Amino acid sequence: MMNAALDLASVEDRIQQRLLARYREMMHKAIDDFVDALAEDLVSEKKMTLMDITQAISKAKPELLAAILQESIQTKHGGILSQDLAECPICKKKIRRSVHAPRTIETVLGPATVTRPYFYCASCKHGFSPADEVLGLSSRKKQHDLQKLGLEFLADLPFERASELFFKSTGLSFSDHQMHDLFAQFAEETTAEAVIPSAAEIERRIDTVKGKGRRRPVLVAATDGAHTPTRPRGEGRDEKWGPGEYKEAKGFRLYLIDDDRIVHIASWHQVGSAEELTEALSLAASRIPQKKVRPCLVGDGAP
Ligand SMILES: [Zn+2]
Repeated sequence: MMNAALDLASVEDRIQQRLLARYREMMHKAIDDFVDALAEDLVSEKKMTLMDITQAISKAKPELLAAILQESIQTKHGGILSQDLAECPICKKKIRRSVHAPRTIETVLGPATVTRPYFYCASCKHGFSPADEVLGLSSRKKQHDLQKLGLEFLADLPFERASELFFKSTGLSFSDHQMHDLFAQFAEETTAEAVIPSAAEIERRIDTVKGKGRRRPVLVAATDGAHTPTRPRGEGRDEKWGPGEYKEAKGFRLYLIDDDRIVHIASWHQVGSAEELTEALSLAASRIPQKKVRPCLVGDGAP
């Protein structure tokens, strides 16, 4: 018995060792491809500044990261990615795999492809992919990490600026249809009630600012309204906005001015009417302990 258990452990060990060796080999290959992409310029006489080298690395990086992600997924979930049979979640019948379907996804690492088995139950007319569930893939191209990042930008910035910063920080276009849908969904869900911090939280933030001498800190309420395209920009970076609708995005930011810093209190931005803006602003006002601050209202949103 003892020997059988030991053998089993050593078989498991050997499988793990093989998996590890394969993973290492694939990683080395990814690095080799990365080296190949840069090597010629680096060893030639070509003049390169720091910026040129940085750019060359940036240009080759997405492919390297995609390969790393794909191989890591393959190593972690090889079993489910080569699955031939799966149970239909509706009728519980065993279904044979229809295809290995590639899916393009985007994460903070950049674009990548996940090729996973896809199953189709003819009697239920139901298609499904168990791997998507195991991986927690979003049905959108942009995965949860990017959705979260995008929504964080959108929570504090008008759409166009949020989209610019999103592109700069991820190298991915934010303005695809899916992100717009997500934003629309998000905008519907983000009532002022949910977005503006509670009275207790606002007071806590105010208390972190002492103000000059004995004077109460200045509370700035900056409102802004800008015509924001509500349709996506074309795929190319320099393309003009498509012939979409232009609606006014209104919003405000409330912040305190300390000696040398700005303390964010609350912000709200929405494509909506002036009434909605007024409503949100008065909700925020009702949560501010008025005796602790000196209010100041400015019309332009730039701090
Ligand atoms: Zn079925």
